[in-house]
Amino acid sequence: MKCPNPGCRAETESSEEKFCGECGQKLQQKAEFIICTGKDEGGKPCGAKIKAAKKFCSTCGRKVDPNEFLIGNCQKCGAECPVSDAMCMECLTSNITGKVES
Ligand SMILES: [Zn+2]
Ligand SMILES: [Zn+2]
Ligand SMILES: [Zn+2]
Repeated sequence: MKCPNPGCRAETESSEEKFCGECGQKLQQKAEFIICTGKDEGGKPCGAKIKAAKKFCSTCGRKVDPNEFLIGNCQKCGAECPVSDAMCMECLTSNITGKVES
């Protein structure tokens, strides 16, 4: 992936790297799994765990956007949370930076 620093944009060597080797910018990590935000046939929230490699939820069939696995930081407590999460699980705040608007 590419460094998120607009002035750098260096290509990182592996997805294991946590910081850019060129500018020291923290790289966005991916969550191992997210909680599905889809609904089942009865309109109930799905809530199934979806692993990062999956493209669809195996419980409700919702298409999963790869961006949902990116990890952002809570603006309040700084905890790392998947950007798809509605709120931070640490402090229950809904301001997670790096959130992708759909
Ligand atoms: Zn960089
Ligand atoms: Zn689902
Ligand atoms: Zn928080």
